[in-house]
Amino acid sequence: MPRIECPSCGREVGTGPVAGAPGLYCLARHDRPGRTATIDGLLSCVGSLATVPRPEAVEEAQLSLF
Ligand SMILES: [Zn+2]
Repeated sequence: MPRIECPSCGREVGTGPVAGAPGLYCLARHDRPGRTATIDGLLSCVGSLATVPRPEAVEEAQLSLF
């Protein structure tokens, strides 16, 4: 899966599929810039595990309008 910019912190993060929603990506867990990891994982950025629309899906939707 591609890496995309987190809408919360702006870092490039990995993505994963969202079950039942082929038009969405799920952002990988990641920490905020400049912070160290916690013992139980990286989840300090509010953008972690958020879902975002796939850019390709948005483009296809726009193209289908014409
Ligand atoms: Zn983030």
